[in-house]
Amino acid sequence: NKPSSSNFIKNIVIQDLESGKHKEIITRFPPEPNGYLHIGHAKSIVLNFDLADEFKGTTNLRFDDTNPLKEDTEYVESIKEDVKWLGFDWDALYFASDYFEEMYQRAVLLIKKGKAYVCDLTADEIRETRGTLKHPGKESPYRNRSVEENVDLFEKMKNGQFVDGQKVLRAKIDMTSPNMNMRDPVLYRIAHTTHHNTGDQWCIYPMYDYAHPLEDAIEDVTHSICTLEFEDHRPLYNWVVEECEMPSQPQQIEFARLNITNTVMSKRFLKQLVDEGVVNSWDDPRMPTIAGLRRRGYTANAIRNFCREIGVAKAHSVVDSQMLEHFIREDLNENAPRTMAVLRPLKIVITNYPEGQVEMLEAENHPGDESMGTRQIPFSREIYIEQEDFMENPPKKYFRLFPGNEVRLKHAYFIKCHDVVKDADGNVVEIHCTYDPETKSGTGFTGRKVKGTLHWVNAQEAIAAEFRLYEPLILDSEKQVEEGQEEKSFLDKINPQSIEVIQGFVEPNMQKAKGQDKFQLFRHGYFNVDPKDTTAEKLVFNQIVSLKSSFK
Ligand code: ATP
Ligand code: MG
Ligand code: MG
Repeated sequence: NKPSSSNFIKNIVIQDLESGKHKEIITRFPPEPNGYLHIGHAKSIVLNFDLADEFKGTTNLRFDDTNPLKEDTEYVESIKEDVKWLGFDWDALYFASDYFEEMYQRAVLLIKKGKAYVCDLTADEIRETRGTLKHPGKESPYRNRSVEENVDLFEKMKNGQFVDGQKVLRAKIDMTSPNMNMRDPVLYRIAHTTHHNTGDQWCIYPMYDYAHPLEDAIEDVTHSICTLEFEDHRPLYNWVVEECEMPSQPQQIEFARLNITNTVMSKRFLKQLVDEGVVNSWDDPRMPTIAGLRRRGYTANAIRNFCREIGVAKAHSVVDSQMLEHFIREDLNENAPRTMAVLRPLKIVITNYPEGQVEMLEAENHPGDESMGTRQIPFSREIYIEQEDFMENPPKKYFRLFPGNEVRLKHAYFIKCHDVVKDADGNVVEIHCTYDPETKSGTGFTGRKVKGTLHWVNAQEAIAAEFRLYEPLILDSEKQVEEGQEEKSFLDKINPQSIEVIQGFVEPNMQKAKGQDKFQLFRHGYFNVDPKDTTAEKLVFNQIVSLKSSFK
């Protein structure tokens, strides 16, 4: 594991430990269980867990489950699985909904201090009276209700005596504040909905801006790290902690969220892709979800290294998707065994090879790592090569197979083409070659040189396999896309050719391959055995990345 480099958040932590403000730090990763985690969340996970690791602190996994309308236990389970898979162990697991009673009591405290009131305005009316950046808001006619009346009405809200939207609890701060978030924000709303954790126990639910600071303070979180959109909410965060008289005072610190080119990165949009059938599931290999990346073949190691390398900053930026690819290539180049697969087969008959004979050839599994051992691959009179590795009338500098040309078969022999067999329509269906037994791989033959080396599989024993080749799901994301602005346009940017499915062959020893096994298919790139769609009858491979990129 590479250590994460220095950043402004780390510097704050170092200062706080040196000054004695904190003896030990506590961070948290607080997902709302309303979708699967994506690569942006991974950045936050790595940041929070690495900080605690480095300074011997602790990290909580906390489900920020205060909105029953969108949350589901399926998401809770997937989030736990993904955090673990990324290689992190939380010190404690919490549900914000377990704090509902305390949050309620703190709200009653606010009311009693004259800092909160029950408001009968509708959501629209509240929005209309909030004012604008240039104009102050208008005070609600319910703002000066007595403490007794507010206590009574809030209790009735809690007891289910009002319908959804009939009343809200609002903070009493300042309708003229230059910060819109401070203009009497809503703290509680009514929602007669079953909650995944608390069932029907509550029909009032705290708003994010009220709940989140309390959650942090209840858990004694020292550094509450969130994304930049919450910078303007920080005064309200501090107001809630202070006015609710929380014994512990967490510090909110904002950093720029991760954006990646050609990628939508918001659970809302990702859910839409699933719901509208653009992709098959949250773990579709084209998705930037942790589950999708895993199924595609990304390793936790590559994702962690990527997150550490991109760094933590205050300024918005967009990371090139090729950088993520760089880290998986780096990992798999070192760790993935090599093998051969023919994706678009063309049959070769080696006319001077004895009929019925099969010999076993030895092939190394990794040219740079002897400890990965060798494997045996069968060779005989009929093999498959890639269609694109043969041309009847090649252009100059084509070094693969063409009539009269000799090439090397990886791990096997030189072969030379002498005949082309075509069907009635003139399509090439079979190539006839001769081989030279002197040129066997590993014998040190130096008699003559050839320029092309082709991969191949033996026709008789090769195993049929499906290959899924991918292109980015979303086209164009050059410009910074702020959340919300993306909404209208992102469905128009879907790449209609994000997947190509083809049927080819792999070496017979791949019979042993299991879901999530990763290979470098010689000349094709890195592939992962799909864990869901692979069956005893059929291997399915997901292309992870090609062998090369232009990224430096
Ligand atoms: P989304 O907009 O995708 O729904 P969110 O921020 O609403 O994301 P949460 O479940 O609330 O999702 O996020 C959990 C944590 O992950 C938060 O602390 C949030 O700041 C962080 N996070 C979410 N998206 C990103 C991102 N793109 N880059 C960095 N951190 C992120
Ligand atoms: Mg959210
Ligand atoms: Mg969001």
